Amino acid sequence: MQFDPDRQLVSGTRSVLADVAESNGIYEATVPTSRWVEVLVDCSGVQGLYTYQVPLNLSVHPGDILTVPFGTQQVGAIAIRVVHQLPADLDRSSIRWVEDIVSSGFFPPSYWALLHQVADYYCTSFMQVVRVALPPGLLGRSQRRIRLKPETIPPGADVFLPAAAQHLLSCLREQKQGDYTWHYLQRQVRNANRGLRDLLARGWVESYLEPPATIRPKQQQAVTLVAEPPLASLSPRQQEILDVLKRRGGDLWLQELLQVCHVSSSVVKALAQKGYVVIQPREVLRFEAGLEMGSDRPKRLTSAQSTALATITALTGYSSVLLHGVTGSGKTEVYLQAITPILQQGKSALVLVPEIGLTPQLTDRFRARFGSNVRVYHSALSDGERYDTWRQMLSGTPQVVIGTRSAIFAPLHHLGLIILDEEHDSSFKQDQPAPCYHARMVAEWRATLAQCPLVLGSATPSLESWIKVNPPDLVQTGNEQCVSESTAPAALYLSLPERVQARPMPPIQVVDMRQELQQGNRSIFSRSLQLALKQLKERGQQGLLFIHRRGHSTFVSCRSCGYVVECPNCDVSLSYHQIHSGGFDSLRCHYCGYSRSHPRQCPDCGSPYLKHFGSGTQRVMQELAEQFPELKSIRFDSDTTRTKGAHRTLLTQFAQGEADLLVGTQMLTKGIDLPQVTLVGVVAADGLLHLADYRASERAFQTLLQVAGRSGRGEEPGQVILQTYSPQHTVIQAVQQHDYQSFVEAELDKRAALSYPPYGQLVLIRLSSINADAVQQAAEQIAERLRPTIDDAGYELLGPAPAAVIRVSRRYRWQILLKRSLQSPGKLPALESLRTVCPSSVSLTIDIDPLTLM
Ligand code: ADP
Ligand code: ZN
Ligand code: ZN
Repeated sequence: MQFDPDRQLVSGTRSVLADVAESNGIYEATVPTSRWVEVLVDCSGVQGLYTYQVPLNLSVHPGDILTVPFGTQQVGAIAIRVVHQLPADLDRSSIRWVEDIVSSGFFPPSYWALLHQVADYYCTSFMQVVRVALPPGLLGRSQRRIRLKPETIPPGADVFLPAAAQHLLSCLREQKQGDYTWHYLQRQVRNANRGLRDLLARGWVESYLEPPATIRPKQQQAVTLVAEPPLASLSPRQQEILDVLKRRGGDLWLQELLQVCHVSSSVVKALAQKGYVVIQPREVLRFEAGLEMGSDRPKRLTSAQSTALATITALTGYSSVLLHGVTGSGKTEVYLQAITPILQQGKSALVLVPEIGLTPQLTDRFRARFGSNVRVYHSALSDGERYDTWRQMLSGTPQVVIGTRSAIFAPLHHLGLIILDEEHDSSFKQDQPAPCYHARMVAEWRATLAQCPLVLGSATPSLESWIKVNPPDLVQTGNEQCVSESTAPAALYLSLPERVQARPMPPIQVVDMRQELQQGNRSIFSRSLQLALKQLKERGQQGLLFIHRRGHSTFVSCRSCGYVVECPNCDVSLSYHQIHSGGFDSLRCHYCGYSRSHPRQCPDCGSPYLKHFGSGTQRVMQELAEQFPELKSIRFDSDTTRTKGAHRTLLTQFAQGEADLLVGTQMLTKGIDLPQVTLVGVVAADGLLHLADYRASERAFQTLLQVAGRSGRGEEPGQVILQTYSPQHTVIQAVQQHDYQSFVEAELDKRAALSYPPYGQLVLIRLSSINADAVQQAAEQIAERLRPTIDDAGYELLGPAPAAVIRVSRRYRWQILLKRSLQSPGKLPALESLRTVCPSSVSLTIDIDPLTLM
């Protein structure tokens, strides 16, 4: 039978109206006038908003899952909003009818309001927000199913059914559970639509969206140690594999073992052939998890923790709370105990964390406390994992979702609490693609819509959050420009001023690297750091070395003529990376990913004398190997953690004592809570201090204090060695004193003087194009167009100007900055319309509240 959706639709529609006419006789009076619904179609590569007409017998609400005719198919769609006025350009007669409601209340009711709010504030289209919030193809993979409800069918009643309904019924009865996919039934039964409507009206069947797939068992290779080796017959590598297995309790996943030992699977297979190990498949859970999971009981809280907890649990409705606790003060324990009653009340909690590198350890702590009610949601999940997690979230059962930025859009029902851990972290802000949203802002809206508390936790709160608890006129700014907008705190302030068990904060020793050089030490390690590294092994302790950059050296330059090797696509120098020690070297662009082999001679003058400047993680690893061959180090940066599960593997390795040092970038600053870490070394703080950005100081301060806070979290006291060429810098001074308060006050003064956030609002309009002239012209035109509109709005226009790095990935970049001080109450002009002025060869991004102007 040829399936003709249009004919089907027309006849289906008629029958609905006929039914209505028959049942209440008011057919003429109720010709639908305001019964349209905007739906999101998301299947077979299409994602878009479409308008449909709603049959009278259906009561459609935002968040329902519908089926609608689309092209020649019937597809799943999400009802976004009811439309009372059709857009003028829409031809009424072309509007098709909603076919049916598959599942009502699938999404939380305020969910779409949240997405609309994001689109409005961040000046982007609704669809762009949808793309961030929803995993693609959510509905494409969901199946509509029809299930028989035999208990509701009176015996013998089916004899009087119309043919289609009867056929459908007998079809369903053939199956043991009385349950088929709608797709299948449509192919089996003529006029299946009509038959289904009949049966649904009688309540004899139900239509539903296939519930979350039960976790499909997935097998993975595990390696188990089975025999003790006679040592002679083994290579050192094979011996190492057996040692690692022994240390890890006799078995490990093959993949993990290969990562830990840096060997190929053939080495392990050889061991299996010799009979030392067996390799066999074992079941793993599809939700990201480790091999084993201990259980964990709530700790007895310190009095500061108790006060914080009591305040949070007493909150009803929306409130914003700043939990300011020094590193190691037990913030996470407060989160855990605040979540327990939420779950007991049948509600869910959402926990946002900055980066994925930090989730394995934190997730483990949550899993140990709450078991399988914990879901992890972040961008590194595979499609399958993401999809399963999503479906589980929609199931409505009380649960804890831990995730990064985009998890703020997790479609949880009955939200009882939102927590942003390390709320100061800049990874909560999306730079691109649009919407350039900040998860903290969205969290505030979401908590307001859900009427639940929002807890912002940090050892180094952002200035934005700080002035919410210390409104401007309470802060000593010493600057008359700073007038308060409101004087009542917009958030509650809770403080954990001490580490748990009164452990001391680690002393921070600042080392002046200029003096080291003067006194003849040319190593990248100061004498203090060298001494500390030597003692590490003797004392059986562990350390972290922080370095701002990955790779080996920041740039390569010719000693004879000064030529610097640059990226052909971007206006930046290439960084030097070593692929293998002793193997080939490459030069890479950290902006666009371009890479080339290391030239033997200067491309400009032919001189063989090329020098590497600046140091990155690889360089530090190399120096360590030369100066401290007895120390084992693990490199922990975005190069070494690119593969799935690598974060967890490396951190577990380190936690198990398989290395003495963890050498890494930014990632080290976040969430690592290891009691055996006593030493933290900052190899060079200067790279952080001198960035030309208005937030550089704030970010440097936060990063340094956070990395310092990784030390001395256990029984043994910690120490921090901070190397710098600018020991007098205010940031270094404040870090050395662990003095958040005075740093923040000085920084706020500076911001107030220039009306920078949090005392002003910034809007950055970023333009880019392959064509240098086109982008400059567009920037000038847009600025001209904006100028007359922004004065009244209280904004000041700066630029247009080329971006700090003018060319990236062959695209030329210009920007326009709008700035408004909070004193001038203004409203942003409609920026969306700027897109119409912008030629198609130029791309335009509107970044509201940019965190960086670079
Ligand atoms: P933060 O998140 O503030 O850095 P954590 O919650 O990670 O601090 O706590 C630091 C360490 O102290 C963790 O190992 C944690 O298990 C432990 N801890 C937290 N609260 C207590 C407590 N009340 N009693 C004992 N140990 C605690
Ligand atoms: Zn040269
Ligand atoms: Zn580049």
